[in-house]
Amino acid sequence: MPTYEYICNECGEKFDFYMSIAEKESGKKPKCPNCNSSNVIKVFGNITVIGSRSGSSNLPPVCGPKAGPGCCG
Ligand SMILES: [Zn+2]
Repeated sequence: MPTYEYICNECGEKFDFYMSIAEKESGKKPKCPNCNSSNVIKVFGNITVIGSRSGSSNLPPVCGPKAGPGCCG
């Protein structure tokens, strides 16, 4: 059965919500189990949408100038 993961915009609560396809297409929205707000956002996979994000990534380069031997073949 399809379950959807949501994050509450009000309190940040993360919860799973089960909804049938018919319910989904009818525009039904879940409510936060913590604060009962319907101001929730759907989560796709492991994407976290809380807070503001800049476009830059803080990940270090995989094959930077300080990479060890054998990094890039
Ligand atoms: Zn909430």
